[in-house]
Amino acid sequence: MQEDHWSTFQQLAKRHGLDCLGVTDTQLQACAPYLQAWLNQGMHGEMAYMERHGLDRLDANMLLPGTVRIVSVRIPYIPPSLLNEQEPKDFFAQTLDKVQSATEPYISLYARGRDYHKVIRQTLQRFAGDVHAALGEFGYRVVCDSAPTPEVEIARKAGLGWRGKHTLLINPKEGSFFFLGEIFTNLELPMNQAFETNHCGECTACMDVCPTQAIVADGVVDARRCISYLTIEHDCAIPLEFRKAMGTRIYGCDDCQLACPWNKFAKPAVHSDFEARHGFDHANLLELLDWSEAEFLKRTEGMAMRRIGYKRFTRNLAIAAGNYAGAENMEKSRLKAKLMELRSHADDFLAEHLDWALGELSSMDSGG
Ligand code: SF4
Ligand code: SF4
Repeated sequence: MQEDHWSTFQQLAKRHGLDCLGVTDTQLQACAPYLQAWLNQGMHGEMAYMERHGLDRLDANMLLPGTVRIVSVRIPYIPPSLLNEQEPKDFFAQTLDKVQSATEPYISLYARGRDYHKVIRQTLQRFAGDVHAALGEFGYRVVCDSAPTPEVEIARKAGLGWRGKHTLLINPKEGSFFFLGEIFTNLELPMNQAFETNHCGECTACMDVCPTQAIVADGVVDARRCISYLTIEHDCAIPLEFRKAMGTRIYGCDDCQLACPWNKFAKPAVHSDFEARHGFDHANLLELLDWSEAEFLKRTEGMAMRRIGYKRFTRNLAIAAGNYAGAENMEKSRLKAKLMELRSHADDFLAEHLDWALGELSSMDSGG
């Protein structure tokens, strides 16, 4: 690619807020043994698409025939309203304290605003459209969590950071609170140096803090134990062994990132779309339990949370209610009354979770 074309590409990326980008080729086979071992051990749980795509995920040509380069971008998502008011490390420490205290429902930081799939895909599409207008016809496909790509390995190869023990990408100047998106293209863009060092060192903070011991080895998360997977992807009953540990996390889990020392360098989002909707920064359990299915669908319109559907949403709320530690006596009796009301017209699946919650609240009363 000519020098002036590459500089146009970079300028356009900047204009779209995509200045944290890197470029790599399509040789992604280095992570094949890890991926295969993870799949062989069933650690993907019910994520059938992972198994279905298997090692095909490592073949960029499956997504776009003729791909020669993959552009990887980092897009920070913590709203400035949260991160600019205090030092990132204080904000994350307080957030971790709050989630561990189980006094309000916790929604993962990335999921409180507009659906990130839409935000990122649209941003990448607009950027690619401008590249097209400036440089002429080129083949591309934009991806954000929407195709089975090994996005962390792509980002590492594109020089954007290393894979932490918790499996997420960490950048030494930005930590890990960002989304990754990719553009697969047939443009012969100049490549970046891969990020070959790993700066986790002796640290095991993420493994130690994980409520369910889901990080079973350095860089290996057993999805079947991970609260993020259990609250979002898992469609069945929450296994009893993880219910207490889930606390009041109703959508996703951030503990391993909140504990990571590199997030003292986290940067705020540039997209206002990631600001919390419906007060999800301080959600109220009783209010959420009051939502009908129609209300859930209306309030979560345009949000990633909508994809779990009302059934999983209510299941997660029931678990949170059973673990709720913030209730004063009066509030606790209202909570119990609400759970009983839901129980009166629940199907077997939900009734079982509600019974568990009622049992936990009663055992708290009796000091059990
Ligand atoms: S997201 Fe939560 S449950 Fe999953 S590995 Fe991280 S700390 Fe553990
Ligand atoms: S908490 Fe420590 S071990 Fe875990 S990803 Fe961060 S630096 Fe690495």
